[in-house]
Amino acid sequence: MTAVGIAAKMAIRRVFAEQDLREGGAMTLPAVKVQGLSYWYGNLQAVKGVDFEIFPGEILGFLGPNGAGKSTTIRMLTGLLTPRSGKAQVLGRDIGRDDPQLRAQIGVCFEEKNLYLEMSALENLDFFASLFGIRNADSLESLRRVGLADRARDRVGSYSKGMRQRLMIARALINRPKVLFLDEPTAGLDPVTAAAIRRTIKEEAERGAAILLATHNMHEADELSDRVAFINEGRIVALDTAESLKLKYGKRSVRVRLRDGDGVREEHIPLDDAGSSARLAELAASPNLLTIHTEEATLEAIFIRLTGRGLEG
Ligand code: ATP
Repeated sequence: MTAVGIAAKMAIRRVFAEQDLREGGAMTLPAVKVQGLSYWYGNLQAVKGVDFEIFPGEILGFLGPNGAGKSTTIRMLTGLLTPRSGKAQVLGRDIGRDDPQLRAQIGVCFEEKNLYLEMSALENLDFFASLFGIRNADSLESLRRVGLADRARDRVGSYSKGMRQRLMIARALINRPKVLFLDEPTAGLDPVTAAAIRRTIKEEAERGAAILLATHNMHEADELSDRVAFINEGRIVALDTAESLKLKYGKRSVRVRLRDGDGVREEHIPLDDAGSSARLAELAASPNLLTIHTEEATLEAIFIRLTGRGLEG
């Protein structure tokens, strides 16, 4: 993150801290604090003592393959599952019990859809708000934010998959939550819908929400996250800014494209290896040289290096 970005985040944190003081200091920073959280499904330990914090205005990317334990962690933090051990606080309140006051301040978007298909989008949101006692809900405004205002009165049964997903996001935003838990919010969507949802997520962080974004999409994690937690087999194996992870674990390289007869060939030269500068100078002087591009390690390459496996499957 740039110095300006960090300064902006700090300003947001200060505003939240001042608001807390005015409200009697009920919320302590960070917005989410997790210590040694674990969960078993029968004999299978799905989450193995994870620790992390999320600050107001921050997006923490939870990056890992299917079955890594991302959803289980979110289910514990949102009160759907009771942790076997460890503890966590959301907005300063202990998780693990039914807490309507906390529920009113968080937003949740899971992969599974539990929408009422016979109702319109507006009716779905109004119903949801009344069910959860959300008093200041502005359903139409939430729909506008995800680009569904003009379809607000249409039956959800007539919506496409992408529109239903946008509706799920609108529902998660309806109470202007201080903490947002998003589980694969763009999985399986077309690029335009996915980009619109990502924009909304960024806006929510700018508004000051603390966001846990579970994804197995490294581009999404890289683009949106202030910090990224790599999660594999129930453990967090690294947690830092994407930039720091790349500097610490990644290998920089240069991709050189050369004319080769009628075709083109590519060579990848690691920048940190002995002898690479000589080879690079040689290629740079070649009459067949077409282009030279620097390449930085992708989050997936680093994930593979740390865990021995990729993010798919
Ligand atoms: P995905 O992206 O596929 O949802 P994930 O990282 O969210 O993956 P979890 O859904 O938390 O992973 O699953 C963690 C582990 O717990 C996996 O081995 C999974 O098979 C197992 N698991 C998840 N839900 C259940 C369940 N209801 N009963 C038994 N095992 C489960």
